[in-house]
Amino acid sequence: MASPEPMSEASEVLRRVFGYEEFRDGQREIIEHVVAGGDALVLMPTGGGKSLCYQIPALVRKGVGVVVSPLIALMQDQVDALRALGVRAWFLNSTQDPDERRTVEAAFTAGELDLLYLAPERLRLESTLRLFDRADISLFAIDEAHCVAQWGHDFRPDYLALSVLHERRPDVPRIALTATATPATHREITARLNLEDARHFVASFDRPNIQYRIVPKREPKRQLLEFLRTEHPGDAGIVYCLSRASVEKIAAFLVENDVTALPYHAGLDPATRAANQARFLREDGVVMVATIAFGMGIDKPDVRFVAHLDLPKSVEGYYQETGRAGRDGLPSTAWMAYGLQDVVQQRKLIESSEGDAAHRRRLAAHLDSMLALCETVECRRTQILAYFGQEGATCGNCDTCLSPPESWDGTEAAQKVLSTVVWLSRRRQKFGAGHIVDILLGKKTPKIIQNDHDTLTVFGIGSDLSDAEWRGVVRQLLAQGLLAVEGDYGTLVLTDASAAVLRGERQVPMRREPARPAPKAAKAAK
Ligand code: ADP
Ligand code: ZN
Repeated sequence: MASPEPMSEASEVLRRVFGYEEFRDGQREIIEHVVAGGDALVLMPTGGGKSLCYQIPALVRKGVGVVVSPLIALMQDQVDALRALGVRAWFLNSTQDPDERRTVEAAFTAGELDLLYLAPERLRLESTLRLFDRADISLFAIDEAHCVAQWGHDFRPDYLALSVLHERRPDVPRIALTATATPATHREITARLNLEDARHFVASFDRPNIQYRIVPKREPKRQLLEFLRTEHPGDAGIVYCLSRASVEKIAAFLVENDVTALPYHAGLDPATRAANQARFLREDGVVMVATIAFGMGIDKPDVRFVAHLDLPKSVEGYYQETGRAGRDGLPSTAWMAYGLQDVVQQRKLIESSEGDAAHRRRLAAHLDSMLALCETVECRRTQILAYFGQEGATCGNCDTCLSPPESWDGTEAAQKVLSTVVWLSRRRQKFGAGHIVDILLGKKTPKIIQNDHDTLTVFGIGSDLSDAEWRGVVRQLLAQGLLAVEGDYGTLVLTDASAAVLRGERQVPMRREPARPAPKAAKAAK
């Protein structure tokens, strides 16, 4: 329904304001639709060029474009970047003093802005909504729209207030955007934001230039250093760790080994955080060691690798974090070291998490999908895309495609582990993975002697596999839900599904740990 004129105006803005010659895949149709006043829901991967999809319509249409974004820390940067291009942009959030806010509000209602960035919590204030009544608004853009989905991995209660936009100003078109949405999250965004009648633009989530690799975690620091030295010397990249302490430790370790590395986590004072972020963005070849507090909205095109030393909590998180690599389209690596302790730790975190049973079930489902991705013998990319409800052929650019892992029948090995847990429980005892592996290997450790565990029937029945292989077996049992973790010490217990394995009614296919000798033929455990 758009006449050709608005579109040529959009092309003109693309060239004159942003300095780009052509629209990217998808941008043209989205912009055309929104310029014409239509509602849109845009699913497009990181780096796809979502910002222009609302910035250009906001410039072409009459009135001020209001952008809701959770990225308060980045609003200043975003606004500065737009102003440098001559766009009249400003923001409203809690970091401002009342005087500055009043100035922005006056400019907004006077129509002296092109774009106004707004933190979602401002929508809880009646004063903000009254501004909406008086202003001439070209569109509402809802960035990071997955934050409205409770099923998603990054739910923000403030986002629930976003339905007020449409209630207050049903005449203003809305465009919601996200780089991460499974089919379930997609449905929830649609319902919560009343976007049933909007046009949905769903781009492919494939990032062909990113090579996905997940390796067994043995000596993570050494493995990381080796990865950096052999594949990415002098490259910019991000190393994600779960805790602030490990961020500090890994950053210091890399610096000792002549890597230009900086730490980033929420426990650092704001000035250090800002300085480290600025160096990462401006200097070449800086490695940022960070918790997931770092990265959302960071637009650095030449991030050559993203490394994970701890397991992300969900595939959405993994996809979003790895997606920060290779925005410029050049070859990049998503590398992760993953091991038994990751599974134990994440299961423990879920068990001790606050919130109701439904919340814990959600967390467990997210983790299970992440574990399935780690343990798969199929193409990683195909599996990621399938998770987002999309199809893809095997890619030839992930570790499982490049060197297909073997799978083996781990049923007997599984029975040995589960039997050990059963024998211990007959003595009313529970132990963690390390001790159970020691029993199977027949090690006479002080803990084993002290507990008389060398008299157990299962003592020493696992000499056919190595320590690392047994840890791999336990990890895969945890990943497949055939074992569970209990309590603060990470002790192992059976699940409802374990019995079928013990009775020999269920096979347990396993992924062979790469670069390890094949297990010898195993005797059945009883
Ligand atoms: P997203 O928000 O989807 O992650 P951005 O909007 O930040 O992506 O865009 C990613 C990068 O691509 C930015 O550096 C942006 O300037 C650039 N870009 C976007 N659209 C175009 C285009 N049509 N031509 C060239 N570069 C573009
Ligand atoms: Zn592949």
